[in-house]
Amino acid sequence: MHILYDQPAEHYSTFRLKNRLATVIEVSCIDDLAKLNTSNVPQVLGEGSNTIFLEAQSRPLVRYTGSNITEHWTTEDNCLFHIEAGHNWHKLVTTVVNRELWGIENLALIPGSVGAAPVQNIGAYGVEFADVCAYVDYYDWSTRSLQRLTVADCKFGYRDSVFKHEFAGKGIIVAVGIKLSKVAKPVLSYQGLDTLPVTSSVSDIYQQVIATRNSKLPDYRQLANCGSFFKNPVLSSADFELLQLSYPAMPGYRQDDHQVKVPAAWLIDQQGFKGYQINDIGCYPKQPLVLVNYGEGCAADLLQLITQIQTKVWTAYQITLEPEVRLLKGNGQQYV
Ligand SMILES: Cc1cc2nc3c(=O)[nH]c(=O)nc-3n(C[C@H](O)[C@H](O)[C@H](O)COP(=O)(O)OP(=O)(O)OC[C@H]3O[C@@H](n4cnc5c(N)ncnc54)[C@H](O)[C@@H]3O)c2cc1C
Repeated sequence: MHILYDQPAEHYSTFRLKNRLATVIEVSCIDDLAKLNTSNVPQVLGEGSNTIFLEAQSRPLVRYTGSNITEHWTTEDNCLFHIEAGHNWHKLVTTVVNRELWGIENLALIPGSVGAAPVQNIGAYGVEFADVCAYVDYYDWSTRSLQRLTVADCKFGYRDSVFKHEFAGKGIIVAVGIKLSKVAKPVLSYQGLDTLPVTSSVSDIYQQVIATRNSKLPDYRQLANCGSFFKNPVLSSADFELLQLSYPAMPGYRQDDHQVKVPAAWLIDQQGFKGYQINDIGCYPKQPLVLVNYGEGCAADLLQLITQIQTKVWTAYQITLEPEVRLLKGNGQQYV
C-alpha cells in the first residue's frame, strides 16, 4: 500500500482543475484492501478521465493499481481473460487486437482504467463493455469480502450500471472477466466505420476507430477534457416525434425498447455553443459536447457553462441534459 498526501488534483483528473487532494491511497492487491481503514469510506478513483474535482478533496481517494492479465480458458471459438482493475483500458484493447481477438476493437482509445469500464458501461461505435463482460470481481468495504458479480448482477444500461446506484460508495472493483471471440465479429454500423468492408480485419477496425477518434476529439494530454460531457438523452418515441414536428432536422437513433436516443452534441450545437468560452472553460470548437479546460479554468466557470447549456437546451426542447462526467464536491459527494 502506498499513501500520498496533499496531491495536486490536476495529476489525477484529465480535466485538470487546480485543487488539492488530501489523501490518495494506492492499493495493489486484496490483502492491501483488507488492511484499509474504511471508517472514513474512501472515494474510488481510476485514471480520472471521467472525474472532475470541483473543490479540494478532504475525503481519501483510493486507487487499485494491480494490473495483471491472465488468460483463464480458451476454446476453438472463444477465450476468457481475467484483468485486474488497474490495467489501462486502451492497452488491453491493443493487446487483444494484436492477438487477433474480437470484441473490444470498437472501444479503442477510450481513456481510463479497466476497473472503471463497468461503472459507466463504456461504449463507442455500437459496442459496450456489457457485450463482452463475463463477470466483475467486487470488494465490499462493509463485509471486507470479494464477490463475483454476473452480468445480470451488474444491471448494465446506457452509460449506467449497479455501481452508480445500489453499489455506489460501497466497495471497489478489483478485476473483470471478458469473453472475446476468435471468430470475426465486425460491428461496422456506426458512422466512421460504415465505409469499411465487412471483410476488414480486427486490426483494420481498431486503426479506423483510432483515426476517427483522433480526427474528432481533442487529445486530453494536450487539451484538458473528460470526453463527452453530457449523456445523449433518451426520449419516448412519442416525445421524439412531437419534437420532430418543430425540428424536422433533429436526429434520433431508435433503440430496441421503442425509445429514441438524441445526440446531445446536436442539441448543444443548435444552441450556438460550438467554440463558446467562459474564460478558460469552453465547448470544443469541433465537438461542442466535449467541454475543455484551456489551462486556467476554474470550477465556477465550468458550473456556469454547464448551467447555460442545460438551460438553453431545456428552454428550446424541454430536454434535460445529464452530465456523464463525475463532478466531485470537497467532501467527495457528487455535484448534481
Ligand atoms: C478524450 C476522452 C474520450 C472519452 N471517450 C469515451 C467513450 O467513447 N466512451 C465512454 O464510455 N467513455 C469515454 N470517456 C470517458 C472515460 O474514458 C471513461 O468513463 C473511463 O471508463 C473512465 O476511466 P477512469 O479510470 O479514468 O475513471 P475515473 O474517472 O477515475 O472514475 C470514473 C468512475 O469510475 C469509478 N471507478 C474507477 N475505478 C473503479 C474501481 N476500480 N472500482 C469501482 N469504481 C471505480 C469512479 O469511482 C468513478 O465513479 C472519454 C474520456 C476522455 C477524456
